[in-house]
Amino acid sequence: MAIRALPDHIISRIAAGEVIERPASAVKELVENALDAGARRIAISLSSGGKALIRVADDGAGIAADDLPLAVQRHATSKLDDEDDLVSIGTLGFRGEALASIGSVARLRIATRTPGAAHALAIGVSGGAVGAVEPAARDTGTTVEVRDLFHAVPARLKFLRSDRAETSAVADQIRRLALAAPGVHFHLESEGRTLIDLPAETGANGLSRRIVAVLGSDLDGNMVPVERAREGFALSGHVSLPTHHRATGRDLYLVVNGRPVRDKLLLGALRAAYQDVLTRERFPVAVLFIDCEPGLVDVNVHPAKAEVRFQNPGLVRA
Ligand code: ADP
Ligand code: MG
Repeated sequence: MAIRALPDHIISRIAAGEVIERPASAVKELVENALDAGARRIAISLSSGGKALIRVADDGAGIAADDLPLAVQRHATSKLDDEDDLVSIGTLGFRGEALASIGSVARLRIATRTPGAAHALAIGVSGGAVGAVEPAARDTGTTVEVRDLFHAVPARLKFLRSDRAETSAVADQIRRLALAAPGVHFHLESEGRTLIDLPAETGANGLSRRIVAVLGSDLDGNMVPVERAREGFALSGHVSLPTHHRATGRDLYLVVNGRPVRDKLLLGALRAAYQDVLTRERFPVAVLFIDCEPGLVDVNVHPAKAEVRFQNPGLVRA
């Protein structure tokens, strides 16, 4: 077969294969967008584990009329200006792929309103085809609805698990994001039933209250604050006392420059720190924030942005 450049909708569908693996990954992208838009309250609703419907509504900045058709285009983003920005990313998103990817494998509808706009606007995308911008009704903010995820990709549909399992993966994702952003109200419902309701936490003990609300009241009084800075890196958050531990490493949460990550280097360092006080079969609980100059960490190493790479891993480990 001769070589030819792929049409856009196929490129988007290939990208979707990496970025959108299951309902929880779509939820992650949509909630990250809401956080990037400065939302104070994010409400997520699911039907059939997110396979039939995912709805994410926020009270963030909204999308301007002219930008709305661009928002659903591949590699279109308001978060990067030029190449220099790529080494100093301050937002959760930057690849401009999520909405286009979702639109290529599902029926997507966005309703949005910017502050001061006369009314809201909506746009739809189905199987990669973008519809016209139409007037809609809602307050300032954005609602994204994703219906029939993977209806266009039956092969992927077969890999999805039960509604229950997909719902629980979404809930895990929300907990992870909620720990990283304690100042934001998160609400998750499935089939009209509230599963998670985490009011915004502020003030000095905001993070501890969010940790107890998300990870369990057994942690109340069993976590200690951590605060250290060294050579451009600031470490803060809470870790469990050596007398309080878990059977799995599930409750180890790491947030690098506001981004929840699973990082082997950091997880290894955390376990090493406890090795003299915990047996190998037991795990601490930790919610740790690492903040540094964006240039010291590369976040563009993973399509779903779940991993990062530090310029100086030895220093970070220490
Ligand atoms: P990225 O987040 O990498 O820029 P996305 O495809 O996720 O790419 O979103 C494309 C653009 O749409 C964003 O850059 C942003 O300008 C806009 N956008 C998406 N979701 C929202 C939202 N909830 N509120 C405001 N703007 C949004
Ligand atoms: Mg995004």
